[in-house]
Amino acid sequence: MSTTTASKVHNFSAGPGILPLEVLQQASEACINFDGLNLSLLEISHRSKNYERVMLEARNTVKELFEVGDDYEVLYLGGGASLQFAMIPYNLMKEGGSAAYVNTGVWATKAIKEAKIIGNTKVIASSEDKKFTYVPKEYVIPSDADYLHITSNNTIYGTQMKHFPKCDIPLVCDMSSDIFSRKVNAKDFTLIYAGAQKNMGPAGSTMVMVKKDALGKTGRKMLSMLDYQVHIKGDSMYNTPPVFPIYVTLLTMQWLKKNGGIAWIEKLNQQKADAIYNEIDRNSLFYGTVDKADRSNMNVCFLLKKPELENEFDKFCKEANMSGLRGHRDVGGFRASLYNALPLESVHVLVEVMKEFEKKFA
Ligand SMILES: *Cc1c(COP(=O)(O)O)cnc(C)c1O
Repeated sequence: MSTTTASKVHNFSAGPGILPLEVLQQASEACINFDGLNLSLLEISHRSKNYERVMLEARNTVKELFEVGDDYEVLYLGGGASLQFAMIPYNLMKEGGSAAYVNTGVWATKAIKEAKIIGNTKVIASSEDKKFTYVPKEYVIPSDADYLHITSNNTIYGTQMKHFPKCDIPLVCDMSSDIFSRKVNAKDFTLIYAGAQKNMGPAGSTMVMVKKDALGKTGRKMLSMLDYQVHIKGDSMYNTPPVFPIYVTLLTMQWLKKNGGIAWIEKLNQQKADAIYNEIDRNSLFYGTVDKADRSNMNVCFLLKKPELENEFDKFCKEANMSGLRGHRDVGGFRASLYNALPLESVHVLVEVMKEFEKKFA
């Protein structure tokens, strides 16, 4: 079996990202024999008692981790976070209304593009002037907009909102790449969504948590599959849901809970981020790419002062059994993604390799 080698590769992939080994093992077992049924999870009805229990728990566990009550509903939908770029304005922007967006990167830009097709979309702040290397902080939120859309963590450029805007209009957040990585006051948000494959589970399902009283107000005649209320009424099974990704997402949330929940992971994630940023700042060969105050604890972007050494550093990384460190093509250099399932030990290995590299090439 390959399970022992899997744990030896230090996986810094930006997404789909690392999952806990024990979750992968439980998921493998469920592919063959789910819940002791001697049937695969992949070959039973989503309406079976056993699967209905999975869906209910997967929805409830999100509410538990976010500490919200029954005024919120949780859905698991297909189409990725990218479909939510369209569904959010479609469900929350009134006919003749407007929405406000903060543009902090590639994903926010894509969200804005879709919203503009639905209605009047105002970009009230943007860090595009400096290639998205910081998070805009001073901006006026229009009180007549139907909602404000923000992106909590900029996966590609490596910035993260350390504080969320105080706002009187509904706050909507794309948390795809830092959901459940730190404590947030979820009750301040009307809608939180996340493509699961960064920090929550595997690709194929997208989590949407929405406050019920925000829905049904657009005046728009809604297409069923794009209507949150239709999915809510169907208990997130209006059509066949992505059964397996949802199950693995549930296992990943259970792993988080079992180990100490958000308080535990926030502390661990801070230790991981501190270790790598300290080394980037200390090491004479590397530098970070974003404003220090806005550095992401999830996606750490860094460059070599001598770019001609990139292939050499790649070799060092491969020899140390590290994977997924190449930066996004828009930024270049390197990106270490420190998602929840990445152990502190993997960061220590990266830091050691950077030190060795400095000894050889500085
Ligand atoms: C990856 C990512 C997306 C896109 O997710 P898909 O599920 O591929 O559509 C959106 N927003 C953020 C912040 C991301 O990191």
